Amino acid sequence: STKKLQMVRGKKSITKDGFVVKIAANIGTPKDVEGVIDNDGEGVGLYRTEFLYMDRDKLPTEEEQFEAYKEVAIRLEGKPVVIRTLDIGGDKDLSYLKLPEEMNPFLGYRAIRLCLDRTDIFKTQLRALLRASVYGDIKIMFPMISAIEELRQAKGILEGVKEELRAENIKFNNNIEIGIMIEIPSAAVMSDLFAKEVDFFSIGTNDLIQYTTAVDRGNRKVSYLYNEFHPALLRLIKTIIDNGHKEGIKVKMCGEVAGNPKLIPILIGMGLDEFSMSASSMLRARWIVNNILKKDMEGLVEEILKLPTAQEVKEFIQKNIHI
Ligand code: PEP
Ligand code: MG
Repeated sequence: STKKLQMVRGKKSITKDGFVVKIAANIGTPKDVEGVIDNDGEGVGLYRTEFLYMDRDKLPTEEEQFEAYKEVAIRLEGKPVVIRTLDIGGDKDLSYLKLPEEMNPFLGYRAIRLCLDRTDIFKTQLRALLRASVYGDIKIMFPMISAIEELRQAKGILEGVKEELRAENIKFNNNIEIGIMIEIPSAAVMSDLFAKEVDFFSIGTNDLIQYTTAVDRGNRKVSYLYNEFHPALLRLIKTIIDNGHKEGIKVKMCGEVAGNPKLIPILIGMGLDEFSMSASSMLRARWIVNNILKKDMEGLVEEILKLPTAQEVKEFIQKNIHI
Protein backbone atom coordinates (compact mmCIF):
# COMPACT_ATOMS: atom_id res chain seq x y z
CA SER A 1 0.00 0.00 0.00
CA THR A 2 1.08 3.62 -0.38
CA LYS A 3 1.22 4.02 3.42
CA LYS A 4 3.70 1.16 3.61
CA LEU A 5 5.78 2.82 0.91
CA GLN A 6 5.81 6.20 2.64
CA MET A 7 7.45 4.50 5.62
CA VAL A 8 10.66 3.83 3.69
CA ARG A 9 11.06 7.48 2.72
CA GLY A 10 14.35 8.79 4.06
CA LYS A 11 15.46 5.26 4.93
CA LYS A 12 18.54 3.51 3.63
CA SER A 13 18.19 0.91 0.89
CA ILE A 14 19.50 -1.91 3.05
CA THR A 15 18.52 -5.56 3.47
CA LYS A 16 17.62 -7.04 6.87
CA ASP A 17 21.15 -8.47 7.05
CA GLY A 18 22.90 -5.21 6.24
CA PHE A 19 23.60 -5.27 2.48
CA VAL A 20 23.40 -1.69 1.22
CA VAL A 21 22.40 -0.82 -2.33
CA LYS A 22 21.47 2.37 -4.15
CA ILE A 23 18.06 2.95 -5.67
CA ALA A 24 18.18 5.55 -8.41
CA ALA A 25 16.04 6.78 -11.28
CA ASN A 26 16.08 6.80 -15.05
CA ILE A 27 15.41 10.25 -16.53
CA GLY A 28 15.11 11.76 -20.00
CA THR A 29 15.14 15.50 -19.29
CA PRO A 30 16.21 17.90 -16.52
CA LYS A 31 12.50 18.32 -15.64
CA ASP A 32 12.39 14.69 -14.55
CA VAL A 33 14.69 15.44 -11.59
CA GLU A 34 11.65 16.69 -9.70
CA GLY A 35 10.18 13.18 -9.70
CA VAL A 36 13.49 11.75 -8.52
CA ILE A 37 13.52 14.05 -5.50
CA ASP A 38 9.79 13.57 -4.81
CA ASN A 39 10.33 9.83 -4.69
CA ASP A 40 13.43 10.01 -2.52
CA GLY A 41 15.84 8.72 -5.19
CA GLU A 42 19.48 8.28 -4.30
CA GLY A 43 20.59 9.65 -7.63
CA VAL A 44 20.10 9.15 -11.35
CA GLY A 45 21.36 5.84 -12.72
CA LEU A 46 20.55 6.65 -16.32
CA TYR A 47 20.08 10.02 -17.99
CA ARG A 48 19.05 9.24 -21.57
CA THR A 49 20.48 12.28 -23.37
CA GLU A 50 18.96 11.44 -26.75
CA PHE A 51 15.84 13.45 -25.85
CA LEU A 52 18.00 16.60 -26.06
CA TYR A 53 18.57 15.76 -29.71
CA MET A 54 15.01 14.77 -30.63
CA ASP A 55 12.00 16.85 -31.76
CA ARG A 56 14.06 19.65 -33.28
CA ASP A 57 15.66 20.39 -36.61
CA LYS A 58 19.34 20.56 -35.76
CA LEU A 59 21.90 19.24 -33.30
CA PRO A 60 21.89 20.79 -29.81
CA THR A 61 24.87 23.11 -29.28
CA GLU A 62 27.56 22.53 -26.65
CA GLU A 63 26.05 25.39 -24.65
CA GLU A 64 22.52 23.94 -24.69
CA GLN A 65 23.85 20.58 -23.55
CA PHE A 66 26.06 22.12 -20.90
CA GLU A 67 23.05 23.94 -19.43
CA ALA A 68 20.97 20.74 -19.32
CA TYR A 69 23.69 18.60 -17.68
CA LYS A 70 24.58 21.38 -15.27
CA GLU A 71 20.95 21.81 -14.25
CA VAL A 72 20.58 18.10 -13.49
CA ALA A 73 23.84 18.02 -11.51
CA ILE A 74 22.90 21.07 -9.45
CA ARG A 75 19.34 19.98 -8.74
CA LEU A 76 20.62 16.61 -7.47
CA GLU A 77 22.73 18.44 -4.86
CA GLY A 78 25.72 16.14 -4.99
CA LYS A 79 23.83 12.89 -5.56
CA PRO A 80 25.35 10.98 -8.48
CA VAL A 81 24.03 11.17 -12.04
CA VAL A 82 25.11 8.74 -14.72
CA ILE A 83 24.85 10.55 -18.03
CA ARG A 84 24.74 8.30 -21.05
CA THR A 85 26.24 9.60 -24.27
CA LEU A 86 23.99 9.75 -27.32
CA ASP A 87 22.14 6.53 -28.09
CA ILE A 88 20.41 7.32 -31.35
CA GLY A 89 19.60 4.87 -34.14
CA GLY A 90 17.70 1.65 -33.61
CA ASP A 91 14.12 2.82 -33.25
CA LYS A 92 15.10 6.44 -32.50
CA ASP A 93 15.79 8.52 -35.58
CA LEU A 94 17.01 12.09 -35.97
CA SER A 95 15.60 13.41 -39.26
CA TYR A 96 18.22 16.16 -39.57
CA LEU A 97 21.08 13.64 -39.53
CA LYS A 98 19.63 11.97 -42.64
CA LEU A 99 20.73 8.53 -41.54
CA PRO A 100 20.40 5.93 -44.30
CA GLU A 101 17.57 3.45 -43.95
CA GLU A 102 18.78 0.10 -42.70
CA MET A 103 17.58 -3.50 -43.01
CA ASN A 104 18.24 -4.12 -39.29
CA PRO A 105 18.38 -0.79 -37.45
CA PHE A 106 18.90 -2.45 -34.06
CA LEU A 107 22.00 -4.17 -35.45
CA GLY A 108 23.18 -1.16 -37.33
CA TYR A 109 24.48 2.35 -37.10
CA ARG A 110 23.50 3.20 -33.55
CA ALA A 111 24.76 4.82 -30.33
CA ILE A 112 28.53 4.55 -29.81
CA ARG A 113 28.97 3.36 -33.41
CA LEU A 114 27.50 6.61 -34.68
CA CYS A 115 29.49 8.64 -32.13
CA LEU A 116 32.83 7.04 -33.06
CA ASP A 117 32.08 7.85 -36.70
CA ARG A 118 30.64 11.36 -36.16
CA THR A 119 33.33 12.49 -33.70
CA ASP A 120 32.17 16.10 -34.18
CA ILE A 121 28.87 15.19 -32.50
CA PHE A 122 30.58 13.04 -29.86
CA LYS A 123 33.21 15.64 -28.91
CA THR A 124 30.63 18.38 -28.53
CA GLN A 125 28.71 16.22 -26.07
CA LEU A 126 31.85 15.22 -24.15
CA ARG A 127 32.92 18.85 -23.83
CA ALA A 128 29.51 19.76 -22.42
CA LEU A 129 29.62 16.80 -20.01
CA LEU A 130 33.11 17.60 -18.75
CA ARG A 131 32.32 21.29 -18.30
CA ALA A 132 29.19 20.39 -16.31
CA SER A 133 31.13 17.91 -14.15
CA VAL A 134 32.27 20.60 -11.70
CA TYR A 135 28.65 21.24 -10.63
CA GLY A 136 27.92 17.85 -9.10
CA ASP A 137 28.71 14.14 -9.23
CA ILE A 138 28.50 13.39 -12.96
CA LYS A 139 29.59 10.02 -14.34
CA ILE A 140 29.86 9.29 -18.06
CA MET A 141 28.46 6.12 -19.61
CA PHE A 142 28.89 4.77 -23.14
CA PRO A 143 25.99 2.81 -24.68
CA MET A 144 26.00 -0.22 -27.01
CA ILE A 145 29.62 -1.19 -26.45
CA SER A 146 30.25 -4.50 -28.23
CA ALA A 147 34.05 -4.72 -28.27
CA ILE A 148 37.01 -3.50 -26.23
CA GLU A 149 38.32 -1.45 -29.16
CA GLU A 150 35.19 0.71 -29.10
CA LEU A 151 35.68 1.48 -25.43
CA ARG A 152 39.36 2.33 -25.93
CA GLN A 153 38.52 4.56 -28.87
CA ALA A 154 35.81 6.36 -26.89
CA LYS A 155 38.17 6.84 -23.94
CA GLY A 156 40.85 8.11 -26.32
CA ILE A 157 38.49 10.73 -27.71
CA LEU A 158 37.51 11.71 -24.16
CA GLU A 159 41.19 12.16 -23.26
CA GLY A 160 41.62 14.37 -26.33
CA VAL A 161 38.68 16.52 -25.24
CA LYS A 162 40.12 16.80 -21.71
CA GLU A 163 43.42 17.94 -23.24
CA GLU A 164 41.55 20.57 -25.25
CA LEU A 165 39.78 21.89 -22.16
CA ARG A 166 43.05 22.04 -20.21
CA ALA A 167 44.61 24.07 -23.01
CA GLU A 168 41.65 26.46 -22.78
CA ASN A 169 41.91 26.65 -18.99
CA ILE A 170 38.41 25.29 -18.55
CA LYS A 171 37.77 23.41 -15.30
CA PHE A 172 36.38 19.87 -15.17
CA ASN A 173 36.47 16.86 -12.87
CA ASN A 174 39.67 15.16 -13.95
CA ASN A 175 38.70 11.96 -12.11
CA ILE A 176 35.27 11.68 -13.67
CA GLU A 177 34.12 8.05 -13.60
CA ILE A 178 33.66 6.23 -16.89
CA GLY A 179 31.30 3.31 -17.26
CA ILE A 180 29.69 1.26 -19.99
CA MET A 181 26.30 -0.23 -20.59
CA ILE A 182 26.45 -4.00 -20.73
CA GLU A 183 23.59 -4.62 -23.12
CA ILE A 184 25.16 -6.67 -25.90
CA PRO A 185 25.99 -10.35 -25.29
CA SER A 186 29.59 -9.96 -26.54
CA ALA A 187 30.21 -7.36 -23.82
CA ALA A 188 28.66 -9.64 -21.20
CA VAL A 189 30.93 -12.50 -22.32
CA MET A 190 33.98 -10.21 -22.21
CA SER A 191 32.97 -8.50 -18.98
CA ASP A 192 35.96 -9.92 -17.07
CA LEU A 193 38.27 -7.89 -19.32
CA PHE A 194 36.00 -4.86 -19.71
CA ALA A 195 36.01 -4.61 -15.90
CA LYS A 196 39.73 -3.79 -15.96
CA GLU A 197 39.14 -0.74 -18.16
CA VAL A 198 36.11 1.02 -16.65
CA ASP A 199 34.90 2.35 -13.29
CA PHE A 200 31.47 0.71 -13.41
CA PHE A 201 29.06 -1.41 -15.43
CA SER A 202 25.37 -0.74 -15.93
CA ILE A 203 23.38 -3.69 -17.26
CA GLY A 204 20.81 -2.67 -19.87
CA THR A 205 18.36 -5.51 -19.76
CA ASN A 206 16.01 -4.10 -22.40
CA ASP A 207 18.62 -4.56 -25.10
CA LEU A 208 20.39 -7.47 -23.43
CA ILE A 209 17.19 -9.55 -23.65
CA GLN A 210 16.63 -8.45 -27.24
CA TYR A 211 20.13 -9.35 -28.38
CA THR A 212 20.56 -12.50 -26.31
CA THR A 213 17.32 -14.07 -27.48
CA ALA A 214 17.21 -12.48 -30.95
CA VAL A 215 13.80 -10.96 -30.21
CA ASP A 216 13.12 -7.45 -31.54
CA ARG A 217 12.02 -5.54 -28.43
CA GLY A 218 9.36 -3.64 -30.40
CA ASN A 219 7.89 -6.47 -32.49
CA ARG A 220 4.52 -7.61 -31.15
CA LYS A 221 4.56 -10.72 -33.30
CA VAL A 222 7.45 -12.17 -31.29
CA SER A 223 6.88 -10.42 -27.95
CA TYR A 224 5.85 -13.73 -26.34
CA LEU A 225 9.53 -14.68 -26.59
CA TYR A 226 10.73 -11.50 -24.86
CA ASN A 227 10.94 -12.55 -21.24
CA GLU A 228 12.60 -10.93 -18.22
CA PHE A 229 12.67 -14.33 -16.51
CA HIS A 230 14.61 -16.03 -19.31
CA PRO A 231 17.24 -18.25 -17.66
CA ALA A 232 19.86 -17.16 -20.21
CA LEU A 233 19.39 -13.55 -19.13
CA LEU A 234 19.70 -14.43 -15.45
CA ARG A 235 22.89 -16.43 -16.06
CA LEU A 236 24.40 -13.55 -18.02
CA ILE A 237 23.51 -11.06 -15.28
CA LYS A 238 25.19 -13.28 -12.68
CA THR A 239 28.33 -13.51 -14.83
CA ILE A 240 28.47 -9.74 -15.36
CA ILE A 241 28.09 -9.02 -11.63
CA ASP A 242 30.73 -11.58 -10.64
CA ASN A 243 33.18 -10.33 -13.26
CA GLY A 244 32.70 -6.72 -12.18
CA HIS A 245 33.18 -7.56 -8.54
CA LYS A 246 36.36 -9.56 -9.22
CA GLU A 247 37.90 -6.28 -10.41
CA GLY A 248 36.35 -4.29 -7.58
CA ILE A 249 33.99 -2.18 -9.68
CA LYS A 250 30.32 -1.45 -9.01
CA VAL A 251 27.72 -3.22 -11.09
CA LYS A 252 24.46 -1.36 -11.66
CA MET A 253 21.36 -2.04 -13.71
CA CYS A 254 19.18 0.45 -15.58
CA GLY A 255 16.96 -1.73 -17.78
CA GLU A 256 13.34 -2.57 -16.91
CA VAL A 257 14.39 -5.66 -14.93
CA ALA A 258 15.89 -3.41 -12.22
CA GLY A 259 12.40 -2.22 -11.25
CA ASN A 260 10.67 -5.61 -11.48
CA PRO A 261 9.47 -6.43 -7.95
CA LYS A 262 9.71 -10.19 -8.61
CA LEU A 263 13.33 -9.94 -9.71
CA ILE A 264 14.70 -7.38 -7.26
CA PRO A 265 15.23 -10.05 -4.55
CA ILE A 266 17.06 -12.26 -7.05
CA LEU A 267 19.32 -9.37 -8.08
CA ILE A 268 20.04 -8.71 -4.41
CA GLY A 269 21.01 -12.38 -4.09
CA MET A 270 23.42 -11.89 -6.98
CA GLY A 271 24.96 -8.85 -5.30
CA LEU A 272 23.85 -6.07 -7.69
CA ASP A 273 25.03 -2.71 -6.29
CA GLU A 274 22.59 -0.23 -7.82
CA PHE A 275 19.08 -0.35 -9.24
CA SER A 276 17.93 2.38 -11.61
CA MET A 277 14.27 2.54 -12.63
CA SER A 278 11.33 4.86 -13.30
CA ALA A 279 11.04 7.29 -10.40
CA SER A 280 7.58 6.02 -9.45
CA SER A 281 8.94 2.51 -8.76
CA MET A 282 11.73 3.50 -6.37
CA LEU A 283 9.93 3.46 -3.02
CA ARG A 284 8.41 0.05 -3.72
CA ALA A 285 11.89 -1.23 -4.63
CA ARG A 286 13.34 0.09 -1.37
CA TRP A 287 10.50 -1.48 0.60
CA ILE A 288 11.34 -4.85 -0.97
CA VAL A 289 15.06 -4.47 -0.25
CA ASN A 290 14.32 -3.50 3.36
CA ASN A 291 12.26 -6.65 3.90
CA ILE A 292 14.52 -9.42 2.63
CA LEU A 293 17.66 -11.21 3.77
CA LYS A 294 20.46 -11.23 1.22
CA LYS A 295 21.68 -14.52 2.61
CA ASP A 296 18.35 -16.23 1.83
CA MET A 297 18.30 -14.77 -1.65
CA GLU A 298 21.80 -16.09 -2.36
CA GLY A 299 20.51 -19.60 -1.71
CA LEU A 300 17.58 -19.07 -4.05
CA VAL A 301 19.85 -17.73 -6.81
CA GLU A 302 21.80 -20.98 -6.76
CA GLU A 303 18.60 -22.92 -7.34
CA ILE A 304 17.25 -20.54 -9.96
CA LEU A 305 20.37 -20.72 -12.10
CA LYS A 306 19.72 -24.46 -12.55
CA LEU A 307 16.19 -24.00 -13.92
CA PRO A 308 15.56 -24.61 -17.63
CA THR A 309 12.63 -22.30 -18.47
CA ALA A 310 11.37 -18.80 -17.75
CA GLN A 311 8.08 -20.26 -16.57
CA GLU A 312 9.86 -22.39 -13.97
CA VAL A 313 11.91 -19.39 -12.82
CA LYS A 314 8.71 -17.41 -12.37
CA GLU A 315 6.97 -20.19 -10.47
CA PHE A 316 10.02 -20.76 -8.28
CA ILE A 317 10.05 -17.09 -7.30
CA GLN A 318 6.29 -17.12 -6.71
CA LYS A 319 6.62 -20.13 -4.43
CA ASN A 320 9.72 -19.13 -2.47
CA ILE A 321 9.66 -15.35 -2.11
CA HIS A 322 6.75 -13.87 -0.20
CA ILE A 323 7.07 -10.14 -0.30
C1 PEP B 1 18.49 -0.94 -21.95
O1 PEP B 1 18.76 -1.31 -23.10
O2 PEP B 1 18.17 -1.75 -21.05
C2 PEP B 1 18.51 0.48 -21.58
C3 PEP B 1 18.38 0.87 -20.32
O3 PEP B 1 18.66 1.39 -22.57
P1 PEP B 1 17.50 1.81 -23.60
O4 PEP B 1 16.21 1.25 -23.07
O5 PEP B 1 17.55 3.29 -23.63
O6 PEP B 1 17.95 1.16 -24.87
MG1 MG C 1 19.74 0.03 -24.49
